[in-house]
Amino acid sequence: LDVISERALSLKPSLTLEISSLAQSLKQKGRDICSLSAGEPDFDTPNFIVEAAKKALDDGITKYGPAGGDPSLREEVAKKLTEINDVPTSPENVLITNGGKQAIFNLLQVIINPGDEVLIPSPYWLSYPEITKIAGGIPITINSSKGNSFSLDIEEIEKNINHKTKLLILNSPCNPTGRIIQESELQSIANLLRKHPNIYVMSDEIYEFLITDKEVHISLASIAPDLKDKIFIVNGFAKAWAMTGWRVGYLQGSSKIIKKAIALQSQSTSNVCSFAQRGALAAIKGAPKGIDYMIQSYNERRKLLTEELRQISSLSLEAQSGAFYAFPKLSDELPDSLSFCKIALEKEGLAIVPGIAFGNDRCIRLSCSVNTETLNDGITRLNRIIKDIT
Ligand code: PLP
Repeated sequence: LDVISERALSLKPSLTLEISSLAQSLKQKGRDICSLSAGEPDFDTPNFIVEAAKKALDDGITKYGPAGGDPSLREEVAKKLTEINDVPTSPENVLITNGGKQAIFNLLQVIINPGDEVLIPSPYWLSYPEITKIAGGIPITINSSKGNSFSLDIEEIEKNINHKTKLLILNSPCNPTGRIIQESELQSIANLLRKHPNIYVMSDEIYEFLITDKEVHISLASIAPDLKDKIFIVNGFAKAWAMTGWRVGYLQGSSKIIKKAIALQSQSTSNVCSFAQRGALAAIKGAPKGIDYMIQSYNERRKLLTEELRQISSLSLEAQSGAFYAFPKLSDELPDSLSFCKIALEKEGLAIVPGIAFGNDRCIRLSCSVNTETLNDGITRLNRIIKDIT
């Protein structure tokens, strides 16, 4: 009998983290590597946040804290959700987690029974299906509408609803496409929830601030206050405040579920790192003040990347307005996404992520969270690879 549990047997490691570390190790061996694979900001954490955490250390904020999170941070997150997202929230509706990832993990552990189905529109962030499986649920991926826009196929979502369906996962702005779900789509989703009262929604809004000024981020719960107990918000500090290593995120939802998620956290990781929470507190006070320069920079670089990719005839791409990714489609004369990315890394030292990791084997993900020089270098290499293959 295998020593590994059935639960762990089907678990896949994160391909994005794997590619980033492969690229890093090739670099250390002296290969000339250009990486557009990272899913994290290239900026350092802003100084005012670092200073707040340093002060917390000096002040002795180094002990166990409440499992649900520092009360002042829970309060500030509730205030931000109320004022910025237009989702009236109290601190007891908020759990501070070890990154957005643990918020998702805890929520699914608390609401999913074995055999429950979780609807995941594709392309999706690669951890959703795995976290679903760990909870004993069955991930059901739903293709986006035809074409390159990656809009939600509401009809297809509804067709997949049955008595086992428990949760629908939304992610806007989306990793890997950068797409923002439009208000009309959110209205359709809200109507779907009203029609099917046994279904819940998890709305992952971790890239909410990383959008162009032509767009607005709309939280599903703000346009459907009648559904507030059906909607869970996942968010975190990693992307907007360049705090990936700090591991602070949050889950918002009905106090009944949050209470259970706190119980789970109290029996697993306990509180999020005490002084990291103080950094997060400084970050969220007055949010999104202090991060405009990063937002501006992603917007410029996303535009540059998109424009360059759209000039490559073997790729097709509709411009998107959020996050720091582009997810172009490979034309038929190019191989599948994994083969393409292997060739890219081996032949040209270009690290990019195959779309198969996100449920679409005809696309590749490129990150613009690098300086312009690296971005231009990556595009030159990509052009060479495509010329070579076609
Ligand atoms: N949600 C999405 C869509 C992401 O892209 C990520 C990170 O890549 C996360 C959640 C989790 O972020 P963290 O756990 O670092 O806060």
